Amino acid sequence: MSLQSDLELAVKGEQLELHYQPQFDLQTARVVGAEALLRWNHPEHGVIPPNDFIPLAEDTGLIFSIGRWVVNEACRQSRLWRQEGFQPITISVNISAVQLQQSDFYSQVREAIEREGIRPYLLGLEVTESLFVEDMDRTISVLKLLKDLGVELSLDDFGTGYSSLSYLTKLPIDKLKIDQSFIRSSERESWAIVRTIIQLARSLGLKTVGEGIEEKLHVDRLCDLGCHIGQGYHYSRPAPANVISGVLPRELLEVTTPKHKAKHLRIGLPADYLSSHLQATLHDFQNQHSDCQLDLYFDFSAHLLDSLSLGELDVVIALDNAPTKYRKMQAWSTTTVWIASQTFEMSRDYPLPVILQPTGCPYRSMVVAALNTAETSWHCVYQSPEIEGVQKAVASGMGVAAVPSTLLSLNTPSELLGLIHQIGNAEGLPELPPLSLAIYDINRDAAAIKNELVEQLSHVINNMEGVVQL
Ligand code: C2E
Ligand code: MG
Ligand code: MG
Repeated sequence: MSLQSDLELAVKGEQLELHYQPQFDLQTARVVGAEALLRWNHPEHGVIPPNDFIPLAEDTGLIFSIGRWVVNEACRQSRLWRQEGFQPITISVNISAVQLQQSDFYSQVREAIEREGIRPYLLGLEVTESLFVEDMDRTISVLKLLKDLGVELSLDDFGTGYSSLSYLTKLPIDKLKIDQSFIRSSERESWAIVRTIIQLARSLGLKTVGEGIEEKLHVDRLCDLGCHIGQGYHYSRPAPANVISGVLPRELLEVTTPKHKAKHLRIGLPADYLSSHLQATLHDFQNQHSDCQLDLYFDFSAHLLDSLSLGELDVVIALDNAPTKYRKMQAWSTTTVWIASQTFEMSRDYPLPVILQPTGCPYRSMVVAALNTAETSWHCVYQSPEIEGVQKAVASGMGVAAVPSTLLSLNTPSELLGLIHQIGNAEGLPELPPLSLAIYDINRDAAAIKNELVEQLSHVINNMEGVVQL
């Protein structure tokens, strides 16, 4: 009871304070945001951490005035940092589930942003999964309004709450914050969860924030798994605004960024297609443009498209057998043929031994769908993400594979050529649909050099045998 009356006094008096914990881009180690964490400076008991009084505030309704103060204070601090000449960073505040049930929560947030004159994306709100126990539809509609306002939304402590994942597709969120209990743990199982959360988020086009980073090892692991942002004691403990301003980047530093961007083109190539041929073109291009650095990334087409939507790549060439939301610059279709080794004998007595790309690859799905539709019994004898690996397995007589027809004429190493042959229709294998591929580009600011590169790649692909322009 006494803590409650103390808390009432604390809200009226000036005992509440926000500490800030900076958040870092894991690749560049630059500060990109800060989380505001509430502290209660109790006149007798000293600093009381939020976990010791937020539940009480929620039970007594004091959370409404506390929460309003927190949003106002974070916006005020954002303005002050801008006025002091720091680069803009997003300040995220934690929101209790009950706050979102308030009818005027949205207007509180909008007024705070307008009063301080900050850009809406400089305010972030962190909500937890507990939010969705109550009135889910109402919660989602408030979050949508806030998102339309331009505020950034994160789902905090992800992985510890309710396991219904279906709501993730309905939420208008920008980021998932991986709960610190997984990251701070050294157990293999915890990191299996971290990996899965990051993959899930990437496929949904969400950025991930790793919390509770206490060691450099955590930074390296998270970077490797494709996590974007990190926060934790390894970088900095939460501290008052005047302390944190010591690590914030100054506006001046910004000048170097656009130059850096203009010089690098990040290109994704499909490991599941004719990458080596495209690679040769890119190397030629690099030789002609010594002022522009090309960074090449190889991955499955689906993963490349995720990276494109997350802003990690500038141009992507990917297999395209399904409709996508990405902007296609050029698209092609190429014929696909069955191949086997010269020594391979077709037999109807056994399931067909098939050489495939790993699960998740659109090329594999296409081949499997054709076999199943034709009711051909088959089993996978070898799989490799790289077309060269597939060719070698075919040459050594392990089974049959489906490849783009261009591969036979252009990409087969000469020592394999005599060992492989194309299987004709007479041998009873199902017909394969043509394979589509496309060049994608999500970044609207079309730099001249990028256009030139895309043109060169289009030219190469257009001139390949078997390619049908769409
Ligand atoms: P949270 O939002 O998940 O915040 C992260 C917590 O982890 C913070 O604890 C932070 O100090 C701590 N932390 C950060 N890095 C590390 C690390 O590397 N190692 C360890 N061991 N801990 C780390 P804090 O400040 O005690 O806050 C606890 C919780 O209280 C927050 O968890 C949040 O749920 C809640 N909270 C904080 N401020 C507010 C607020 O203004 N409103 C509401 N509703 N809740 C708040
Ligand atoms: Mg938080
Ligand atoms: Mg958290």
